[in-house]
Amino acid sequence: MGGTFDPIHFGHLVSAEEAYFALGLSEVIFVPTGNPPHKRAKLVSSAEDRYTMTLLATLDNPHFKVSRLEIDRGGDSHTVDTLREMRHWYAPGSTELYFITGLDGVLDILSWKEPYEIVELCQIVAASRPGFNSSRIRDLPEPIQKAIIPLEIPLLAISSTEIRERVLDGKSTRYLLPWTVEHYIFKKSLYIRNGR
Ligand code: ATP
Ligand code: MG
Repeated sequence: MGGTFDPIHFGHLVSAEEAYFALGLSEVIFVPTGNPPHKRAKLVSSAEDRYTMTLLATLDNPHFKVSRLEIDRGGDSHTVDTLREMRHWYAPGSTELYFITGLDGVLDILSWKEPYEIVELCQIVAASRPGFNSSRIRDLPEPIQKAIIPLEIPLLAISSTEIRERVLDGKSTRYLLPWTVEHYIFKKSLYIRNGR
């Protein structure tokens, strides 16, 4: 499961947990992005802070792991490069890879680097997200559609953007994300100093 995770919240965690059980996965690896190409113009918290928050959020789940692969690679992060590298972690033919993403992400897939290569490397799990209609998957080119597994999850209208705005506005973020992450945000004064 890839993401900026700035910060990680219950929308991410419930998607991963539902995918784990629905597809009978052996584990879910969270991969916080290094320097996200789509978000370069915006201010993004340091990779180390996002990595730490992802660790804090996933700590109590024995089938969740966190990888530093994109963070340590530095530079631009592209899903296709990460998937290629992950393929080498496992013996050929022994493991299937699934890329877990929200419906908003998958509907944008044609703007990603080498989307046709991505669907050769993995299947894509598209978790439902409020505001995005899964019938739009049918508008994607056939080879891409075939690799997509739509997944209905309990809909949570939570986004990292909304959480950052709430912190900046002094509003409560309780029950939107794990308390460990909430405490880390306040301890490090994230989302306050640099504004939106
Ligand atoms: P931002 O507002 O900064 O874009 P975000 O909440 O969309 O943050 P990302 O880190 O961009 O979080 O998302 C990582 C992945 O998690 C994406 O594939 C995204 O579609 C998915 N995702 C994020 N929030 C939800 C949610 N509430 N329900 C389902 N999927 C989600
Ligand atoms: Mg997003």
